[in-house]
Amino acid sequence: MFGIVTKLLLHKQLVFDKGRIQIFGRYSSLLPSDAFVNIQKELEQINKENIIYFSGKYSGKLWFIEMNKVFKIKSRDVIKLGSDIVTLAGWGEAVPKKDDAKNKTVIFNLNNSIVAKFHGKSNYAIDHFFRGLLCGAMCVIFKTDMDAIETACVAKGDRKCEFVVKPSKSFDFSDPIVKKQLKP
Ligand SMILES: [Zn+2]
Repeated sequence: MFGIVTKLLLHKQLVFDKGRIQIFGRYSSLLPSDAFVNIQKELEQINKENIIYFSGKYSGKLWFIEMNKVFKIKSRDVIKLGSDIVTLAGWGEAVPKKDDAKNKTVIFNLNNSIVAKFHGKSNYAIDHFFRGLLCGAMCVIFKTDMDAIETACVAKGDRKCEFVVKPSKSFDFSDPIVKKQLKP
């Protein structure tokens, strides 16, 4: 964690200035996690929680476009660096589990999900913002329109949170989990 903060400070990619914070030139604010979860729960009540996923995807793309300009690294290494940077965002620890470059499919775990901590039990996976950030990052890395679904989540009693990211066109929309997590 401190290694990546040092790297960002050295490259002047983490800047604190007069009440504003920039990471890779993009403004970020520290939002208390419980406040975020309250907003998410309101959206769940009206079946609009995927707004969070699509917002995260948008931000993840912009963030990684800026990151790519600064760190000229090979795609193999970018998944590790990308995980470290997504981890820095404070949603939990992103851990790459499987990287199938040929099929542009990546599996990630999320340890210590902060949303799951405050959300409490759910019948559904609930890490929508992390799912979006991760997906946005992979869209940039693989230069393809991708989507992500959370296939296991501690909020619904699974041992860990797990995510599959792959090209949008390869998802099966007759699968109820895909349908629920990717509906606009
Ligand atoms: Zn989860």
